[in-house]
Amino acid sequence: MPRKGQQDPFTCPVCGARVTDPERTWTLVSPIPDRQGRVTITIMGAFRCPNGHTWKAVIKKLKSGGKEEEEEQGEREQGDVITLDLSDIESVDDSAPPPE
Ligand SMILES: [Zn+2]
Repeated sequence: MPRKGQQDPFTCPVCGARVTDPERTWTLVSPIPDRQGRVTITIMGAFRCPNGHTWKAVIKKLKSGGKEEEEEQGEREQGDVITLDLSDIESVDDSAPPPE
């Protein structure tokens, strides 16, 4: 079992190999501002280790409208919520019929 706590996005979650660079990066912008009216911008990366495992991880989070400071204070829940919001929007854009 991997230890809880520090999660390094550059370490393979399967075999623990370290990589130096993501294969690809992109940004996710939260569609919903927080209580202070700031929007969270999440920089995501797609990684591949020498053993062929691939994974995605959050590299950095920024808040627009504020200082460009990392605000990583263990707010992992917030990141999860943002990711789910975006996939919801994607399925709406896809004009998928409702399951009913
Ligand atoms: Zn690996």
